[in-house]
Order: sequence, then structure tokens, then C-alpha cells
Amino acid sequence: MRAVIIDAPGSMGVGRLPDPTPKPDELVIRVGACGICGTDLHIVDGDSPLARYPIVPGHEFAGEVVAVGSNVPPGIGTRDTIMTVGTRVAVEPNLYCGHCEFCRTGHENLCLNYAAIGVTVDGACAEYVTVPATKAYVLPEQLSFREAALIEPISCAVHGMHRLNPKSGDTFLIVGAGTMGLILAQLALRSGATKVAVVDLNTQRLQRAKKLGVDSIHTDINKLLEDEPLGFDCVIDVTGVASAIEGAFAAVKRGGKLLVFGVAPSEARISLSPFRIYNDEITVLGSMAVLYSFGTAVNLLSCGTIDTAVMLTTALPLEDFPNALSMVRRGEGVKTQILPHG
Ligand SMILES: [Zn+2]
Ligand SMILES: [Zn+2]
Repeated sequence: MRAVIIDAPGSMGVGRLPDPTPKPDELVIRVGACGICGTDLHIVDGDSPLARYPIVPGHEFAGEVVAVGSNVPPGIGTRDTIMTVGTRVAVEPNLYCGHCEFCRTGHENLCLNYAAIGVTVDGACAEYVTVPATKAYVLPEQLSFREAALIEPISCAVHGMHRLNPKSGDTFLIVGAGTMGLILAQLALRSGATKVAVVDLNTQRLQRAKKLGVDSIHTDINKLLEDEPLGFDCVIDVTGVASAIEGAFAAVKRGGKLLVFGVAPSEARISLSPFRIYNDEITVLGSMAVLYSFGTAVNLLSCGTIDTAVMLTTALPLEDFPNALSMVRRGEGVKTQILPHG
């Protein structure tokens, strides 16, 4: 099969690998669509602490089952869990050890031996990908593979909202209007928010947020705070940029919460006022990947809660992976996807 292969940081190309066969508990998926995100940039740049090389990237994907391992139970469970050849699925890419303290206490996303398809084992920027059957979720017929490849980022946003746990009537500020910002804005709009504001430097992305029905869009957070001096109940940073996170902190209302959702470089540092955290009772939260939120994301997409058209801007063939990466790096469009079979 053809696959994108990252041999080492900075060295990538499209090459050939043997067609995969499933181990007893695995499925082989013919990849329909695979999204690219900042994680893939980190792997190519060599600043992902988890990545192993050589690696086939690709962790946001959907496709069709073409081979089923001998141990995968046939015909048990509900219609939603039966995996046979021809079943259309999306796949949760995170792999947990099951043995560590965190796996054994319901915090699998914090696993000490955290691994992931497309990061530590070969992913879906390829014609085929092998996955544990337990990680596959059956897709409803109406969802295209391109839409379903958004389930992984949606499931991360759902976990973020679970961490934030907003109250009805809360006001939101979302800093960053890329794919994750646009998904979080939609979840916020549906959460009983009385106001959802979005900040980004990219005016095209802001226009997309506006189309989704957010209350206001802004390029300058300081100007926004002149009009909203008390700040917002729930502020979500989706940029992972230190200065933006400091700006987001300044926009948290007394008694409010800051969710650090964007992925900052591991060596980045921010400057926060501990006095303000104490005196204004500010809660600072993190949100790491997915935790029992993948099925919820399938359901949210199935019932039309999330507008996907606003995010699905670009689809390219496998050979264009380097171009796709450059687009993501330049912030062009919103979600760039690879269609390995055209
Ligand atoms: Zn991703
Ligand atoms: Zn573990």
C-alpha cells in the first residue's frame, strides 16, 4: 500500500509498505479520510515527546472495515458494535496500557504509558490502517468519511467541555477560531450560554465563527475587554500560545474558569497572578485528549449538533501530504484532510 512515512524529524515522503493484516483483536480499515492537525506538525518537526520513527502519521480518521481479526467477536453486542467487512467506522486513536494507576481509576487519558495511532504506531495517512477493534465506532449511514474524520477532534472538545462543566447562563470567550475553536464555539452555543465571543487574528476564520451564530468576533482581546470589563465566566484558550493564554487569563471573570485546551510547547511558560487566582477565585483547568467522549462525539455529529461544512475546507490526495502540512502551518483554510483513495 501507499503511505506517508516520516522516517525521522524533518524527513518525510510517500512510499510503499506491505498491506496490513489484522492481529486477532484488530481490524484493518480502508481509510476514507484523515484529518491533519498541529500534532502532525509536532511529529514532523521532532517536538512531539511521544512520537516514534519511522511513523505513518494520521490520527483523525474514518473508513471501511476490510479485514477482521480472528478474535473479534462476531454478532454480539448491539448493532453499534458489530464489526464486519464493509462496516463504516471512525476510530479513537488513543491507546492506554490498562495497568497503571490512572488507567485503573478512570483516567485513561492520563495513562503513564500513553500511546496513539498515528503517533507511536502507524496511522491513517495511508491506504490502510490497522486498529484495535475495541477502538472502532460504527458510523450512521448519513455521515460521510470526511465528516466522520472530525469525530476525533469533536471528542477532544467534548472532553474539554466536560472538564469546564459550564453552568446555564454562562458567558464564553474562545481564543482561537481554527477547527477546535469552531467546534468548541458550537458546543458552547448549545450549552445554554448567554454570550459566546471569539477572538482570532485571522479574519477569515472569524467570519466562519460568525456564520455559526456566535455573538461577537474580535481581533483584539484588549479592545474586547474595554467593552466587557468584568470578563467572561468561561474562557477557553485554543491557541497554545503563551501570550494568548495570558490574555485569556486576563479575560476570566471573578469566579470564572480558564480552560487551557490548546497544546503549548512543553518548555513554554506563562506568567499568571497568584493573587488574582486567590482573590478572584479563578479556576485554571487543563484538558487532555479524550475520555469516554468518543461515542458522544459520534452522536453529536449524527444528530446535526455540529456544522461540519464550515470546517471542511480542503481535501488532498496522499501525495500532497507535504503541501497539506504547509497549509496547516500557514493557517490556510480550517481543516485539511487527506483522501488516500482520492
Ligand atoms: Zn488531531
Ligand atoms: Zn495506563
